[in-house]
This record gives sequence, C-alpha cells and structure tokens, in this order.
Amino acid sequence: MEKFVYLDNAATTKISEEVLKEMLPFLQGSYGNASTIYSIGRVSRSAIEKSRKQVAAAIGCLPQEVFFTSGGTESDNWAIQGTARRLARKGKNHIITTNIEHHAVLHTCEMLEKQGFEVTYLKVDSDGFVSAKQVEEAIKETTCLVTIMYANNEIGTIQPIKDIGKICRDKGVWFHTDAVQALSNVDINVVEQNIDLMSISSHKIHGPKGVGVLYIKRGIVLDNIITGGGQERAKRSGTENVYGIVGFGYAIEEAMRDMKEKIKNITNLKNHLIESVLKIPFSSINGSLKNRLCFNINFSFGSIEGESLLLMLDLKGICASSGSACTSGSLDPSHVLLALGKTHEVAHGSLRISLGKYTTREDIDYLIEVLPPIVDRLREISPLWKD
Ligand SMILES: *Cc1c(COP(=O)(O)O)cnc(C)c1O
Repeated sequence: MEKFVYLDNAATTKISEEVLKEMLPFLQGSYGNASTIYSIGRVSRSAIEKSRKQVAAAIGCLPQEVFFTSGGTESDNWAIQGTARRLARKGKNHIITTNIEHHAVLHTCEMLEKQGFEVTYLKVDSDGFVSAKQVEEAIKETTCLVTIMYANNEIGTIQPIKDIGKICRDKGVWFHTDAVQALSNVDINVVEQNIDLMSISSHKIHGPKGVGVLYIKRGIVLDNIITGGGQERAKRSGTENVYGIVGFGYAIEEAMRDMKEKIKNITNLKNHLIESVLKIPFSSINGSLKNRLCFNINFSFGSIEGESLLLMLDLKGICASSGSACTSGSLDPSHVLLALGKTHEVAHGSLRISLGKYTTREDIDYLIEVLPPIVDRLREISPLWKD
C-alpha cells in the first residue's frame, strides 16, 4: 500500500467514524426541514437542539447562546461586522485586533476600514504574543470591539484570553475571540474567560466541514449579516444544515471526552519530532514553545522554499503545510511569520506540521526518516545555500 501520512490537522481533520454514523440518518431518511410541524421536521428540530446543548456544555455557556453558522469564517464575519454595524450607530467605530489573525478576521477588518471604520492592529512580540496591557492601552472612547484569536493557526501561540477579556469587561468593550484552533486543545470556558463572542468550527475537530458556531453572550445584540427566513431565533437565516449541525454536536462531545488523552499522546509525539528535526542544520522553530497548542509545530529551514519542501513531502505521501502559500497559491510569505520579525527567507522556508488524534508514532518516525534527505537535496539545488 502507498504511504499516506496526514500532518495537516490545523487545516482540517478527518471526520470521526462515530460522528459520521450520527449524521447519516439525516442525509438519508430523515430529511425534514426543521421549521416544519410534521414528524420528520420535528426530528430535525430536536436533533439541532440536542447539538446546541452539546456545544453549550463543551464551552460553558447556555444553549440559547449558541448560534449555528456555516463555519469559522462566517462566525468571525458575523461577530465583527455585526458588532461594527450595530455600535457604529452609537458613534463607536474603532476595532482592536492583532497582526497575526486569520484572514477571516484580518480581511473583514480591512473591508471595514474601507467603509470608514478605524482598526488598530496590535503587534505581537517575537514569540507571537500580545499582552492584556497592549489591549488596555489601545482601548479608547470609540472602541466597539476587541477581536483577538485564542490560538494562532500557523504557530499555535495561545494568547492571554482571560486577562484580555477582563480588561474589555472592565472597560465595557465587547470581546470576540476566534477559538477555531483552540477548541479541543485547551480548556475553554466562556464565562470564566470573560468572552463575549466566540467563533468555533466543526471541521477542525473531526466534524464535518461547512458548520460552525458563534457564541453570543446573553444580553449582547449584533446586527444580522444573513437575513431571510428567520432561523436561529431570527438572527441567522437559512434552512439549517441539520446533518452538519448534528455532526458538530457529536464531534465536540467526542473531542471533550478524548481531549486529555489526545493532548498527552500528541505532546509525546511532538517532543520526539522536535528533538529529531532540530538536528537538521539551520533549522529552527517559529513562535514560542511555551503557551502553544500541543499539536502545532512550525519549523523553518534556511535556504529552502517551503513550497518545494511540500511537494517533495507529498511525493512521499506526507500532507503538511507551509506558511507561505496557504489557500491562494500565492507566494506571499506568511503575515504571521513576518509579524514575528522573521526575514522573508525564513518565512519562505517554513513547514507547519500539525498532529492530530489519529497521528501515530509510525507517522512521526516516517517523517523523521524522509525529511533530512529532502532538506539536503533542496539545499543542493538552492542558489541561497552556501557554506
Ligand atoms: C480554519 C480557521 C478558520 C476558518 O474556519 P472555517 O470553518 O474553515 O471557515 C478561522 N479561524 C481560524 C483560526 C482557523 O484556523
């Protein structure tokens, strides 16, 4: 059999068999529209409400604070645009974020800037962190929202969310966090951590793609960004993605159940991988090793193109990611690595390995075996490589 090793769990994850099994009835016989009153519609309705409870239990909120969306991207858009539009009417048109956010946040902020909003992009330090103090100093009279990711998708750094939330609470500013990468990897409790709005996504935790949640703290009212038939208590219209929502509910439940064990296993594998890979000359890790997601490692290899490295790994059956191209196929270096103060060369030579609950010791040993000769070969042909 051909080798296949999946090490790109920050991009998406394999759907869990158990989750799929729970979804299938809603793709087959049970296709009722959840807004109808006959029995197969009511089955869909109660499945959605069950999922809402599963999500609420996992993040420590009330079921009525959980709103289903089409994914992390929509949740980010809703939190930011929905706040901006609503609070602009009260003269609040300033948003605070960081320079390492996911594009779902950054591009939304840039769009709002073009519409006349003011955005402060806090700079992370060379380890990849912002501080609550930076946030405090940036808040002003007109600030309507602070949006700062829980953990970064490229380098895995975990921000001081509870402290940032406290500052926002004290100043009366709404606090949104994109917790897509953090979910199932750190303990999240929106009440304890002073979070007002939070985005999460199903497909990063072994659920189906195309479904997410925006947690909206009771008492907060956003403008709607998707209008129509009035689903999700008139806040997010569109016929519910019942099988997706069901899948997310079971995925989050399973993820919470497996979390401790998963973190333990992944941490062991990660340490083994780091130790071996750093033996490669001119290799380094991007972002702090402390306060970092257990499954994310971002390496740089001097004088190497991340893209070429990915292609060579792909030939060996290994799926990984490079900071450089991401979704667009463009060769722009990663904005996250540049934000750490890395040079373009280092940013271009990066390799993100993201482990998951299905990653095995054999997978890691295989990577450790094939990576050094690939790096050697690429350096031989690199014009940048001199002794
Ligand atoms: C994947 C990801 C998103 C986007 O979520 P989708 O469900 O794919 O739209 C947003 N933010 C972060 C940090 C992510 O990793």
